[in-house]
Amino acid sequence: MHNIDIDLVEMTLDVMKYAINRITNVSPSLGEIKKEEELFALVGETITPEGIGGEKAFELFRDILVKSTVPIDHPRHLAFVPASPTRAAVMFDLVTSASSIHGAYWMEGAGGIFCENQAMKWLVSLTGMPEGAFGVFTSGGTAANLSAMVAARENWRKTKSNINKKGLIITSSGAHSSIKAMAKVIDADVHLVETDQPMTKKVLQQEIDSLDDEKRDRLFAVVATGGTTNAGIIDDLEGVASVCHKEGLWYHVDAAYGGGALVADTVRHLFKGIEKADSITIDPHKWLFSPYDCGAILYKDPSLALEAHSQEGSYLDIFKDEGASGFNPADYQIQLTRRLRGMPLWFSLATHGTEKYKWAVERGIALANIAGEFIENRADLALVNPPSLSCVLFRRKGWDSQQYKDWTYRNHRDGLALVTPTLWKTDNEPETVLRFCFINPDTTEDDITLILDTLSD
Ligand SMILES: *Cc1c(COP(=O)(O)O)cnc(C)c1O
Repeated sequence: MHNIDIDLVEMTLDVMKYAINRITNVSPSLGEIKKEEELFALVGETITPEGIGGEKAFELFRDILVKSTVPIDHPRHLAFVPASPTRAAVMFDLVTSASSIHGAYWMEGAGGIFCENQAMKWLVSLTGMPEGAFGVFTSGGTAANLSAMVAARENWRKTKSNINKKGLIITSSGAHSSIKAMAKVIDADVHLVETDQPMTKKVLQQEIDSLDDEKRDRLFAVVATGGTTNAGIIDDLEGVASVCHKEGLWYHVDAAYGGGALVADTVRHLFKGIEKADSITIDPHKWLFSPYDCGAILYKDPSLALEAHSQEGSYLDIFKDEGASGFNPADYQIQLTRRLRGMPLWFSLATHGTEKYKWAVERGIALANIAGEFIENRADLALVNPPSLSCVLFRRKGWDSQQYKDWTYRNHRDGLALVTPTLWKTDNEPETVLRFCFINPDTTEDDITLILDTLSD
C-alpha cells in the first residue's frame, strides 16, 4: 500500500492530468445531482477486501461521480456564496497534501506555519486592527465564529460570578445561521435584533436597554455582521463598537463572506469600526479565492484566545517547552490536529501579489452593479435593494415562489446557471425574490444577460 511502483507512478500521472484539465477548463458543466441509489447503480460497491484498483476507482470518480457535483467556480454559479479559487491556490492545495505537515504546533510545522502567518499578517493589515492583533486559519466561518465565541465566553467567566451563568449574545436577524448554531454549542442564548437594515448604534443600545436585569447580567457579546450572506448588508460597525465599549461587551464581527471586500477601495469605508473588534471572522474560501476549506479567526488580543483554547495533555507538554517555542495555531481555535489550510492562500498571494486580489474583488462588486443596471432596464424585473457588496436581490414581477423554484431547477437542468431564490421582508412580509452573489472575476456581462433573458416571457 505504501510501495513505490509503476502503479503509483501511473496513478500520480492520472491525478496530475486530471488536475491540469480541471483547472484549465473555463466552462465546466454545471453537474447533474443524482440520487444515491442512481449513483450506486452506476458505480457499484467500491470498497472491497481486495480493492478495485486505483485506475478503476479514478475512472469512476472522473467519469461518473464528479459529474454529479456542482462546480462552485462555474461563471454562472451565482447561488449561495460561490467560490473561485485561483489556479495557484488549487495547485498548492495539492502541495499542502503532499507535504504531510502537522499544522498544530511550530515544533513540527514551522516552515508551513510561517507561510500561513505571512498571509495572516496581510489579513490583519486589511482590518486595521491594532498592533498585537493576530489570528489563525480554521476550517471555515462556522469554526471561526465558534472559536471567537468560546474565547469571549471564557473571558467573561474570568469574573467568578459569571461561572455558573448561561451566557447571552446579541446579534441581528441578518446574522448567519452559524451564529445561532454555535450559540447552541456553547449553550448560550441569542437575542435577535429584528431588522432588514444595518444594525445601528441606536437600535443596539435600545435592545440592550430593553433587557431585564437577569438577561443584561448574562449578556457577554455582540455579533455584528460585515456583509450579511443574504444581502451583503454591513452593520454600523463603528456604532456597534462604541456600544460594546460602553457596555463592556465582547465585540465580534462576522465578515466570513464580506471580509474579502476589505481589500476593495470602493467599499472599504463601509467597514469603518471593524478595527475595534475583539475578534473577526473572514473566510478566504469565499471571497479571497482559496480552495475549500479555509476560514480565519482574528483576535485583537490573541492571549485571550490562548487562555480559552490551549489544550493540556502529558503527550503535548513538549510543545510548551522552550526548545519548541514558536507560534502554535492549535492554541487559538477549537481544532488540535490541523491541515495547514492557509498555505494555498499564502502561495496564491505570494504568486500574484495583493493588487491582483484587489482587482478581482473589485470585479465582483462591479459585476453586482452592472447586474443592478441591467435589472433596472428590464420592464419585468425590479431591484429589491440597491446592490450591496456583490449581492443583488431582485424580483420577477408577477411571479410566486413556485415559479421562482421551477425557474431555478429548469436552469440547472439545462446546464445554464445555478441561481436560487431567497426571502426578503418588504413591509414585514417575507417575499420570495432572486439573488445573485458574484465572486468569480471571470463571470461576464454576457453571462448575466443570458440568465436575465430566461426571466422574460
Ligand atoms: C458563510 C458564512 C458563515 C459560515 O461559514 P462556513 O465557512 O460555511 O462555515 C458564517 N458567517 C457568514 C456571514 C457567512 O457568510
